[in-house]
Amino acid sequence: MDDTGAMIYIQSLIDDAKCFATVRTLRWPDGVSCPHCDSFDITKQGRDDTQPERQRYLCQSCERRFDDLTDTIFASHHQPLRVWVLCLYFMGLNLSNHQIAQELDLNKDDAQQMTSQLRQGIVRQQPSPT
Ligand SMILES: [Zn+2]
Repeated sequence: MDDTGAMIYIQSLIDDAKCFATVRTLRWPDGVSCPHCDSFDITKQGRDDTQPERQRYLCQSCERRFDDLTDTIFASHHQPLRVWVLCLYFMGLNLSNHQIAQELDLNKDDAQQMTSQLRQGIVRQQPSPT
């Protein structure tokens, strides 16, 4: 009998630095730009206090600060970024919400909510100016 697979916990195999790099590539395929004014004139401003891989930036055009997760669906959610990235990966493999919930040790409602948010895109839709 070989049940080695059951001993591997996928979240422990995931690197936070790569998760943040993945988000940067997904939201800024042409390089980091300001979520407020779309300027590419950006300087790095250190790292987040609690998440060392989360890069902070300062926009030289509008002088507003933002970070890797500003205006994304990940910013206000209690799940760590690695869970989101894995969720995206499993969606690419066409796993069901039920299977994703099992793999990531989520309850089915959380998995359902996450996959439906991810399908709408990782950057939050801005309300159109009135
Ligand atoms: Zn700006």
